[in-house]
Amino acid sequence: MALNVIMMGPPGAGKGTQAGRFAKERALLKISTGDILREAIKEKNQVALEAKARMDRGELVDDDTMIAIVAERLTRPDAARGFVLDGFPRTVAQARALDEIMERRGSGPLVIVDVVVPEQELIRRLAGRRICGVCGTNADVAAASCAKCGGTLVQRSDDGQKIVLERLRVYQNATKPVLDYYRERPTFRVVNGAQPPDRVARDLDTLIDDATTARL
Ligand code: AMP
Repeated sequence: MALNVIMMGPPGAGKGTQAGRFAKERALLKISTGDILREAIKEKNQVALEAKARMDRGELVDDDTMIAIVAERLTRPDAARGFVLDGFPRTVAQARALDEIMERRGSGPLVIVDVVVPEQELIRRLAGRRICGVCGTNADVAAASCAKCGGTLVQRSDDGQKIVLERLRVYQNATKPVLDYYRERPTFRVVNGAQPPDRVARDLDTLIDDATTARL
């Protein structure tokens, strides 16, 4: 049966890293809406270029655009085994649309994980975060170049301090209500994201397996 996971949490919680690892280990499709947008901007896609101004201000891209991107991605054959969503849904309207898509798809449980990290720690992490300017992979702050392709490391255009504070504010206002939308479900779980990444990974494995079996 397909396994579908939503990795929720504020910017800097480590959800991208954990979503990537979990998806790889379980051979699931990782869908990061932020990565899809950044990729489309590089390819000069018109819709994405229009979204870029909002991203650079730390604001959300409109629901219709984001729902269309995810709906299209989920119809592809490589999503049939299941998926890990990173960065979607970010609004209650997106969460509702995802429920409708899941109902039409009729596949596997939807496990929702909230990765919790205190705000001061998020600000510290985002200030130091670097990505590869060539392939976009997250990098170790101490690294001199990208471990994957050797590319030069850069700061994400929306990781500057002022924009980070705006992204955290947007998270509080628009995305926190999504947690309330999901909280009462038997497949909702919370993980302490302030731990070292391997501890977070271990806890995630346990609680996702638990949520999947608890539902059966
Ligand atoms: P991320 O890499 O997930 O932090 O996303 C970077 C930026 O892309 C966000 O700050 C938003 O501007 C935009 N974005 C990504 N996913 C969504 C979404 N589900 N809804 C609205 N905007 C999004």
